[in-house]
Amino acid sequence: MEILTTSNGSVGAGLGPSGKATSETWQQMMKTAIRTVPELLDYLKLSRHSTFGAAASAKFPVFAPLPYLQRIRPENPADPLLRQVLPINAEDQSPPHFSIDPLGEDAATLQPGLLQKYHGRLLVVATGACAIHCRYCFRRHFPYSDGPGGGALREQLAAALAKDETLDEVILSGGDPLTLVDEALSSLVDTIEAAAHIKRLRIHTRLPIVIPQRVTQSLVERLSSSRLQKVIVVHSNHANEIDNDVISSLQRLDTSGTQMLNQSVLLKGVNDSADALVDLSQRLLDAGVLPYYLHQLDPVIGAAHFEVPIEHGRQLIAAIRARLPGYAVPRYVQEIAGQPNKTILG
Ligand code: SF4
Repeated sequence: MEILTTSNGSVGAGLGPSGKATSETWQQMMKTAIRTVPELLDYLKLSRHSTFGAAASAKFPVFAPLPYLQRIRPENPADPLLRQVLPINAEDQSPPHFSIDPLGEDAATLQPGLLQKYHGRLLVVATGACAIHCRYCFRRHFPYSDGPGGGALREQLAAALAKDETLDEVILSGGDPLTLVDEALSSLVDTIEAAAHIKRLRIHTRLPIVIPQRVTQSLVERLSSSRLQKVIVVHSNHANEIDNDVISSLQRLDTSGTQMLNQSVLLKGVNDSADALVDLSQRLLDAGVLPYYLHQLDPVIGAAHFEVPIEHGRQLIAAIRARLPGYAVPRYVQEIAGQPNKTILG
């Protein structure tokens, strides 16, 4: 499968936290992403500290593109966006209930690259590449290299869809499916459209938040022309992630006739306050996106320091319910391996 390589270790020259990179394509922005802890600290004018994790970075490398880093306040080690991308030594903790496969996805794998967790829906691991490495990611240990790409994935997908007429929705996930170039993504959509019983296409992506320039005209046109009902679930955890460029991109996606939803993860030190969650919901509404899910952290090894107790999460939901209209309050949910649906927590 044609994906954008993330193997180029160069860092964009001459761009600081207040700089703009709007003349670059989204592919160039991927190539100039920061990939090491020292580069990240230098970029944000932070001094070296023993709590910043070299070991964690070796296992799950830093990957943070400049359009995202430009939304982080320099010289602030507690910035909520920085916490999502900076490895720290706490990632070496491994509490008993944390694992490398917290959602039981190995058991849900029909064949490498194709998962079925819920009735009627098939999940496609379209690529292992992401536009950012989120330190709390539940797939940080996922065996991406086992799965096929390109034509082999499309053939397997076509066969799986032909075999099961109870399916009516295909979810493109990853990694981030929007790291595929438009032509590759369009070919995957062709395959899905060719299965007459499939009604809906859902795309899970963080790219419009991380690099809003990814929302190209050709992407919008391809979605507009699809016979499928389209749902895009973006992933934003904090209002500071949603600047005016992001709002424009999300509004452009909206013009393709796509239902726009957001899912967040409740993260200690990032969004575990009523004010942060209210601001996030309001910013999403500004962009025409419904706040859909607030996930309890999936217990993946390396992310335990982000865990917020469920009781505190329930209190937060009660607090934001008193300040927002009902449609702006996300469903607080937990995914439990093997369950037929997500569990509503609050
Ligand atoms: S973009 Fe999504 S899949 Fe990629 S690291 Fe972040 S949470 Fe994980």
